[in-house]
Amino acid sequence: MTLDDIKEVIESSNNIVIFTHENPDGDAIGSTLATYMFLKNLEKNVEMVIPTFPKNFKFLPHSDEVLSEPTMEKYDLAIALDCADIKRLDDPTETFLKAETRVNIDHHTSNGMFGDLNYVNPVAPACSQILTTLIEYFRMPITTDIATCLITGIITDTGGFRYEGVTSETFEIASDFLEKGVKISRIYKEALNNISKEKFEARKLAMNRTEFLEDGKIAYTYMTKEDMKKLNVIQSDLDGIVEMGRDVEGVEVSIFLYETDKGYKGSLRSNDYVNVSDICLLFNGGGHIKAAGCTLPYSLEESKERILTQTKRFLK
Ligand code: 5GP
Ligand code: MN
Repeated sequence: MTLDDIKEVIESSNNIVIFTHENPDGDAIGSTLATYMFLKNLEKNVEMVIPTFPKNFKFLPHSDEVLSEPTMEKYDLAIALDCADIKRLDDPTETFLKAETRVNIDHHTSNGMFGDLNYVNPVAPACSQILTTLIEYFRMPITTDIATCLITGIITDTGGFRYEGVTSETFEIASDFLEKGVKISRIYKEALNNISKEKFEARKLAMNRTEFLEDGKIAYTYMTKEDMKKLNVIQSDLDGIVEMGRDVEGVEVSIFLYETDKGYKGSLRSNDYVNVSDICLLFNGGGHIKAAGCTLPYSLEESKERILTQTKRFLK
């Protein structure tokens, strides 16, 4: 699978739809908006679908053109971005599956290669970094708006250029984008620093509840639907919670469980030697070595018990 194959299929398609993973983060959104603008510049008839668009990314260009559902029955081409698993694709109408050709562009180690064409680079720190290469390969312009979206994805998925996946290329891209007029400090603030009052209250509750187990190597906390209702928070207000536990001295694995319609969603982070993607794969989830997730279709007590039992095995 080469970039030429993707180039060929993009060139021969007219009606194109873009999807990304559920509960989209900055990389999912940045990737989607950038790909949309790039395909518009190629004069394609393109739609991007994100059923629930998080408020804190509304500052990004063209975010008001995001649709909550596709307008057509069938597309020539459907593109999935930043999504490891077809089950996580936020596509309630299953339009991705119905498309003539399906392309999967991603950077998760656990990617299920569910496309007809799969362009997956697990070494890339963000899907947005892969897309930067792709757009350059097409010799299409990376406008200031496209660069703003791509750098948002890179900044959010690398925790602000902090994580191990960051490469010299990441900084070359950032440097190049700065020259294009991208406002890194504003993006940093909007995408990483600013939090709503609700988010703050959710973090406070989760922090208060944190338990340290196994000699402080595991940090565990949770949030029920009832808590979320009381605090008036939605799923996207919960990001950042699992990282609080991860950043505590001595913690190797941080676990955050929150209730959804399907049971408890587990969000896991590790610091050093535990592969949390492997833990999550045991529960049909996945992700990256140091950041992964899964769904536990059980009660809170049982979900906690099951995830802790497996995590302890990996600590040995
Ligand atoms: P988060 O904990 O922030 O929701 O997700 C961390 C990482 O794990 C993300 O890269 C995300 O795509 C991946 N991930 C989260 N939940 C799941 C899941 O249920 N299945 C798979 N395959 N990946 C997941
Ligand atoms: Mn990503």
